[in-house]
This record gives sequence, structure tokens and C-alpha cells, in this order.
Amino acid sequence: MHSPTKPILFILALVTVLVGCSDAEVETAQDEQAAVSEVSAPAISATDIGAQWASYGSDYTEQRYSPLNQITPDTIGELELAWYGDLAERGGSYETTPVVSDGRIFVSAPWSKVYAFDAKNGSLLWKYDPEVPGEWAVNLCCGIVNRGVATWEDMVIWGTLDGRLVAVDAASGEMLWEVQATDREKQLSITGAPRIANGRIFIGEAGSEFHMRGYLAAYDASNGEELWRWWAVPGNPELGFEQPELEWAADTWNGDWWETGGGGTPWDAITYDPETDQVIIGTGNGAPWPAEIRSPGGGDNLFTASIVALDATTGEYRWHYQATPEDSWDFDNTQQLVTADLVINGEERHVVMQAPKNGVFYVIDIATGEVLSADLYVPSANWMLGFDENLKPIINPEANYGAFGDRGFHVVPSAGGAHSWHPMAFNPDTGLMYIPTNYGSFPLVAEAGARMGNQLLSINVGKRPQDPAPVLEGAGSYLLAWDPIAKEPVWEQRLGGSRAGVLTTAGNLVFQGTSDATFSAFRADTGEQVWTTETQAGIVGGAASYEVDGEQYVAVVAGQNRRGAGYWAPNFARLLVFKLGADATLPEMITYTPPELNPPANFGDADLLAQGETHYNAHCASCHGNNGRVSSLFPDLKYAAALNSSALFNAIVIDGALQNNGMVSFSEFLSTDDADAVRAYVVSLSNEAKNNPPQFGNAPAPAPEPEEEEALHEE
Ligand code: CA
Repeated sequence: MHSPTKPILFILALVTVLVGCSDAEVETAQDEQAAVSEVSAPAISATDIGAQWASYGSDYTEQRYSPLNQITPDTIGELELAWYGDLAERGGSYETTPVVSDGRIFVSAPWSKVYAFDAKNGSLLWKYDPEVPGEWAVNLCCGIVNRGVATWEDMVIWGTLDGRLVAVDAASGEMLWEVQATDREKQLSITGAPRIANGRIFIGEAGSEFHMRGYLAAYDASNGEELWRWWAVPGNPELGFEQPELEWAADTWNGDWWETGGGGTPWDAITYDPETDQVIIGTGNGAPWPAEIRSPGGGDNLFTASIVALDATTGEYRWHYQATPEDSWDFDNTQQLVTADLVINGEERHVVMQAPKNGVFYVIDIATGEVLSADLYVPSANWMLGFDENLKPIINPEANYGAFGDRGFHVVPSAGGAHSWHPMAFNPDTGLMYIPTNYGSFPLVAEAGARMGNQLLSINVGKRPQDPAPVLEGAGSYLLAWDPIAKEPVWEQRLGGSRAGVLTTAGNLVFQGTSDATFSAFRADTGEQVWTTETQAGIVGGAASYEVDGEQYVAVVAGQNRRGAGYWAPNFARLLVFKLGADATLPEMITYTPPELNPPANFGDADLLAQGETHYNAHCASCHGNNGRVSSLFPDLKYAAALNSSALFNAIVIDGALQNNGMVSFSEFLSTDDADAVRAYVVSLSNEAKNNPPQFGNAPAPAPEPEEEEALHEE
């Protein structure tokens, strides 16, 4: 990125003012040169300063706050589509936030592909395909996704699903270098956006759901050379420790964790703080999920589910705060880390803030790691009983479901989190944090070695806890405005939700999309909806705002399959760019006619169907949906033509005939008899659906059942 810190913006904004003064031209040019060299940034056209969105989270603060203010509650009635860019990839989800630099806008797509458009007129400049092998899909917990790119000097740099960092020329899209940032033999992937400061690229990886050992690494932006690596969990003590702090971290583990588990992958949150030259990261959940199986007899399991500060130059440990000790609930602590200067008790504090999955909002002093406040931002949580005097959570013994066999536990918030990866935004004008929030529960029953699809979680997704799910008043999905100083909610808006990123602006606005194919703006101070538009496809990523030639633009990607009544309509993925007084329109929406269900007659007895259901839940459900319910990302098997042929079904499931589409062979886990049992089970689901046909068309989506809503966890 172009060193987008606030002080630098001030220096260069001053240059912009001077450039406008014709009789100071010579002096101005020198000043500009001095200013640029002082911050060792590349040449930046002065007109772009303050108007870019040069990093995934807008700038180093990760606030996702745009200082642009042409678009306000008063003018937003004139906000219309300026242009759109078609994105070709299907079968994945567009989690990207557009990045804007030097008049170009970059968006990432499924399979780690990247598009560059002219930010003003939308012409496609280039597209780069890193050619991730289709069969890599089996190494992914949570979709064929990428959240965004980084820019640095004249480069665009991003991570790929198969663990590479790729750098291309920002103008031409020509590849400059690439490096393998993970062990390719392991189930590691990169879905998050790199951050770059002082020529160092910071990136983590996903893979906790496959027991991978997480780390954050820094690379030289000029050539991709690895500079340092920080491991989030200790390895086998007999082999020695890579970092001194891993020695005491190892005291917080029991058993042979290095053989059976670990986790802690920092797959999303990375924040560089120029004031302290620290990189602050959030680490992933422990793996397998139940702490009792991962680390028998207890232990906090450092540094899983933690916020950790590292020296950005050397990678050395500075401080940590573990948000969720003894994590058993997929409480990744990887949600975005936002920095700001807040006046707390009359004192200015330079803080980092986070609203992670576990439901607690944290305000932490960046320099020291002192936790200034920790407060529930959802109405309740049952995994903990409160905090001790050091603001360490006191774990609810009843929540340790790994110790209770089939009794199980309904955890609140859900494993999907009170807030997952969908970026929140902080507006320094209102002082409010806007959080995509979900309040719900998730059923967990431990079983050593049990899988969820391809994931090695040691929970049995086919079983339910013995107690009924808790009844939660106010449960559901909403956009929450949270005051981090008063430590209380200010408004909540159910026209927003938990499943899309947020942008806030100096125009007193908050923008958020929905997976129901709308994009809306709300007043930042009150939450009142002031504008909404149909987007044809669902939105899950965050929006960006930028300025070209004196006009403010708002950009967002709509690419999620649209939920219809009983089916998922295919997506029409596009980058949508809006400005005041524009007049572009989207093409007429294609009416989607779902394919017909055409299963053979039911076959097999109750035992065979039960066997099929068990295998289906263990190996198929995480991609194709639980109990035959459909995920948005993978084909609905009830419609599969292969249901009609045992030979064809086996060719796909056992022989891997569709490997290039990401459907790998399951011969390691299933016999041909098992595959027949799965086919019998899916045929029974298909016939059931055929006999009870859902209503098709563009009818409003039915309200999801709570359990269905929470069926898919997220990384
Ligand atoms: Ca996870």
C-alpha cells in the first residue's frame, strides 16, 4: 500500500494544496519530492491522496472509514450505479473488499484470481489467474474464497488458496515473482489479504480445522524472500522451541498435542501499527475442537484464540492476550483488529479493538497489551461465567463438552461467532464501531476422531446435545453500533446483518450489503436506513469508497448465490460502483429455472439408508449441506444425474472423475458399498423433495430455521 498512515496523508495533502498555487511551482515540486522520500513511499499522484482505499482495511488503522463526504443522508437520494465490472468465477463466494490505488481498482475472486479495472470508467485493465489446482478444494474448510489484495509501490500482491504469495505489476498484471509461503504437503491455504509496511509483507494462513500449526510470516516485498516466522503454538518440546516464549506456552498444553492437534492459524486479522512498529495478529481456534481431546486434563493452550503483538521488524514476541483459553467452540480470534486513539477516563490512549467470535468487545493498549475493557457485545454468552481480576475469562465448566460424552453442549455465541470475518468499521466522527453481529447458539457433541466433512474436528455433527437449545431473546443477525468508550450498544439495525462487511464514511453513513442481494446505507449516528438498491447477487464482503477527479465513488462486489425458495440461484458476480447522479443500470435479471429433480426409485433398506446418512454427514455434508440441505457453494446432490447410475456415482466418489472440479476421490474413506449407501440416502432425499416440491421463482427467501442458519461454521 502507499504508506496510508494519517500523518503521511497530512504531509501529502499539504503538497496537494501547494500544487494548486502556480507561483510556488518549483518549491512545490521540491517539497513533494522531499515529502515522498521522507516516507519512502513511491510516487503518488497528488490528486489521489486521501481518496484511495489502498489496503484491505482502508489503511493501517483497519477502520474502514473513508474521509470522503460528498455522499451524505441529504444527497444519497441521487446515488446511482456508475458502472459495473463482470466477474466470471462461479462456485465460490466473493469475500473480497475492493482495493483502490492510483486510479485502479483491484478485486480478488474465487480460486485466488484477481481483476484490475479503471476506477473511473470501469474498463477491465487485466485479470490474473494463479492457476490453483481444482483438487485443492479438499484442503479448504470454508469455501473457495479470497478476501483481497495488498498494494505496494507498483505491485499488487496477494495470497492463493494453495499457499503462494503472488506479486504482479499493477499496471500490466504481469507476474513479477511468486513464492510458496506454506508447506504444500500440508492442508494450509491463504484466504486473507496480506498487509505491507516498510517493504515487509505480513501473511498468515488457514488450516486449524485440519490440525495445522499456525504461524505468521514476513516476506520481502521486492522478491518474496521470507524474513521471519512466528509460530502460534509450540511443537514437540523434544525438538526444541523456535521462540523463547514457546517454552512457557508449552506449559499450557497437555498430552501429545503436537501429534494430534494445535491450530491457532492467523487466517485473517493482521494490523500494522506505525507508532510502535508492531504487527498485531489474531490467532485461530484450537484443533481438534474439544479442549479435552486436544489437551487432556486442561490448559489454556497458548497462543490459540489470542491477540498477539510482534515486533514488525524482527518478528519477536511483544505481548499477548488470550481471549478464549481452553477454546472448545471454534472461537477463532481472527476477527479484524482496529486501531484508534480514544480518550478514556480523560486520557488519550492508542488502542487496538476487536469484536471476536466469543462475543466480547476488547479495547487494548497497543504499546503494553493492557486490556482496558472487555464487555459482552451480544446479550449473553454461556462459555464463560465472567472475568477474574486480570480480565481473564472464567470458563464455564459445563461448556467443556469434551468431558461429557454424548451430553454435549449448545454454545452461545454460536461457533460461527457473534462476529466472524465480515469486516466491521469504526467511525471516528461518531465514535462508534459498526459490527456485523449474530446472536445464536450452536450444538456440539464431542467424539474423538469424528469428522465434519473433510475437517478433523472431533465433533459428531450427526448428534445433538441432550439438553434442548437455549431460547435466546433477540436472537438473529443484525448490524450493531457499539460505543467502545461507554461500552454499550447505541443502535441495532436488522435490515443489516452478520454476513457482510461494513464501510463507514465522513458523510455520516454506514454501508452494508446482504446475502439477499441488497446494498444499503444507514445513518451512522442513528442507524436509520436512508438508501437501498437491488444487486441481483448476494453481498458478503466489505465496500470501499474512493475519489477520482473530484467525485466520490462507493464500490462493492455482489457475487454470492442468491437464495430463492428452496434452491440457490446461480450468481451473477459483479463489481458494482456507485456515485451521485450516475445513470448506469444492470442488465435485466435472468429468471432462473431450477433443474428438475429426476432421481431413480428409492432403494435399500433402513440399515443401508442409515449407513448412507452416517457417511454422508461425515464426508459430504460440509460441502454439499447437512442432511441434504444445500450450501451455497457446492452442487445440490439431490439434482445430480449420477444418482441414476451406480457406476457413474462410483466413478465420481471413488475414482475421482470430477477431481478437476474440486470433487476429489473419497476412496481413502469410503468403499464402493459405502458409496452405494450414500447414493441410496441421497436418492431418498431427492424423492422426498420431488414429492414435496418447493415453490420456485423470485419469491422472498423463507426465514431460515435457526439450526440451518448455523449449520455452516466459518473458518
Ligand atoms: Ca475455525
